Formats: sequence, C-alpha cells, structure tokens
Amino acid sequence: MPKFEYRKADSVTAAIALYEGYKGQASYLAGGTDLIPRVKSRLSTPTAVIDLKGVEALKTISRHGGSLVIGANATLFALKNDATVQEYFPALRASLEATSCEALQMRGTIGGNILQNTRCLFYNQSLAWRTARGLCFKMGGEICNAAPGAKRCFSNYCSDNALPLLTLSATLAVSGPQGERKIKLEKLFSGKGKNPFTLLPGEILTEIHIPLKKSQGAYEKLRVRGSIDYPLVGAAVSVLGGKGRVAVGGIGLEPLVYDLKDLEGDTLEEAADKACQDAKPVANAVLTPAYRKKMVRVLAQRAIRKTMQEAK
Ligand SMILES: Cc1cc2nc3c(=O)[nH]c(=O)nc-3n(C[C@H](O)[C@H](O)[C@H](O)COP(=O)(O)OP(=O)(O)OC[C@H]3O[C@@H](n4cnc5c(N)ncnc54)[C@H](O)[C@@H]3O)c2cc1C
Repeated sequence: MPKFEYRKADSVTAAIALYEGYKGQASYLAGGTDLIPRVKSRLSTPTAVIDLKGVEALKTISRHGGSLVIGANATLFALKNDATVQEYFPALRASLEATSCEALQMRGTIGGNILQNTRCLFYNQSLAWRTARGLCFKMGGEICNAAPGAKRCFSNYCSDNALPLLTLSATLAVSGPQGERKIKLEKLFSGKGKNPFTLLPGEILTEIHIPLKKSQGAYEKLRVRGSIDYPLVGAAVSVLGGKGRVAVGGIGLEPLVYDLKDLEGDTLEEAADKACQDAKPVANAVLTPAYRKKMVRVLAQRAIRKTMQEAK
C-alpha cells in the first residue's frame, strides 16, 4: 500500500477545509471499498485520505419536505432495510439487495456507491500489467486497450443503485469550497473516462433526495457470480403517477435513461429495443460484448414486465 496521511473530519465544513489544505491532492473516504483497492493498485495515489465516517449528519435517512433525504454516508445495508425504501421504492430495494454481498453492504455507503470509479478489464490491474500495452484514455493516454482504434474511453460505470435512483428522479446535494448546490443525478456523469463525474474539486456529496411518491418498479442484473459481483448489465424501471422511466447501466461510462411515453405494450417494447440499440459494450469485461448487448434488451424487458405486473 502506498503511504498517505489519514485525517478524520467531524463535519462537512471541516472535511472541506482539510481538503483545501492538501491543494487537491486528497481523497474523501467513506466505506473505502472502492477507494482502497484503487490505492493498493496505484490507480489513485492521494497524499491524504479524509475520512468522512465521523460526520454523523451524513448518516441519517429521513422524510423531509416531500422527499426521502438520504445522507451520503448511509450504508447500503441501512438503506436496504429502511421502511420507506421498502414501501415506496421497490426498484431501489431490489438493486440494494443485488449489490455485492451483505458484508460489503454493511461497509459500503450509498454516496461511495454512486461515486465509484468506472472499471475496465484492461485498467483494474497491477501497474505493470496495465501499462504494458501503453497508457489508455482512462490513464491519461490517447488509446483504448479494450477497443483498439477507439477515440474515447469505454470503461464501465458499475453502480447498481444509481440506476433505480435515476428512474426515481433523484437529485444530489453537494457542498464544496465554492458553496452548496443541487444537481439532478443525470448531470453527475461527465462521459469522460479519466474523470467520470462532474463534481468540482473538493466537493462532497452530502444528500440524495428522492421525491416521496409510491412507485412500482424492478431491478434486473447480469453477473457472473450470484453471491458477489459487479453488474455486467443492470436494468431498472420505476413507474409512478402514470409515468415510467428505464435506466440501463454497466455497459459504458454512464447510464442510459429513457422516459416511457405511455405505459402501453408497444411503447414498453420500444424502450427495451432503444436501450439495446444504444448500448455499445466493448471487450472490456468477462462476458462478450455481443452477449451483453443482447442482455440489455432481455433485462430491460424483464424489469418492465415485472413492474407492469406489479402495477396492475
Ligand atoms: C468485491 C467488491 C464487489 C463489489 N460489488 C459491487 C456490486 O455488485 N455493485 C455495486 O454497485 N458496487 C459494487 N462494488 C463497488 C463499491 O465498492 C461499493 O458498491 C460501495 O458502495 C462503495 O461505497 P464506499 O462507501 O465503500 O466508497 P468509497 O470507496 O469510500 O468511495 C468511493 C469513491 O467515492 C468518493 N466518495 C465517497 N463518499 C463521498 C462523498 N460523500 N462525497 C464525495 N466523494 C465521496 C471517494 O473519494 C471514492 O473516490 C464492489 C466492490 C468490491 C470491492
């Protein structure tokens, strides 16, 4: 493990002040299940790690102003067992259940889950292994080792839970050196491999807000090991107030999101077809691109059918 300074903050303001002291060379730490493996393999080399686990205000889950307000440091396990999530947001309940294993759910946070870095078979490797072929876009170079000749990075965003949150129109509250702001979850994604998120340096994700309306929904996931694995394709659907949304992920830098025009048969099939057309998986995961592309339609259809059955 490379050396870094460990600092612990007890408030968001203190964490931001610590960050500023390291002139951009620090990383925030929540559960550490994404960050620490990255540091171990030298994918990330912060001078300091600023632990947010001491910030109690980031751990609460409460109903407020017509929304469920989820602190970014709430664990996946706490969120999965929250009564409002269970009653109102079945797609999110299902994605939390499908995330990794319970040991990781007890350590990993929802904020860290949303902000986990993108992954690629040619990138999540040792330093010697991944540099042997040359620096790829994600490492700051000009090539893609997974799709030779490609003009951009195709690494995969593998958060299970961002997908239902997108279908539920979640917004994010962030706080940083420049103050506080709110962004729609879909605006979080930059589409760039090296830095996949639009957060500004030093910004902390503080809360996730979901409009408090009962929904019907489902989440379907393709993974190799049923007991613990990242999604190779994920598909979420939520329907509420006569409107529906589909989000598909695990197959590129950012999720694909579709509004269902109405909730009739043809429209539902069209959404699954469109997601399959738009998905551009490359050979950067353990299953073939052709199979993963096909599974985008299959999983989107399954999630839509489950949701519509529930809605009847
Ligand atoms: C074996 C294994 C299996 C996994 N399987 C899955 C899976 O099936 N599905 C899935 O979705 N994920 C999976 N993950 C990925 C991920 O580690 C977890 O889902 C977890 O939720 C990440 O949360 P964390 O709190 O540990 O994040 P951390 O590692 O602490 O943080 C992740 C990133 O977010 C930043 N960060 C964290 N909190 C904040 C904040 N509040 N503000 C600003 N920046 C912040 C950190 O600096 C870091 O860059 C897996 C990881 C492992 C190791």
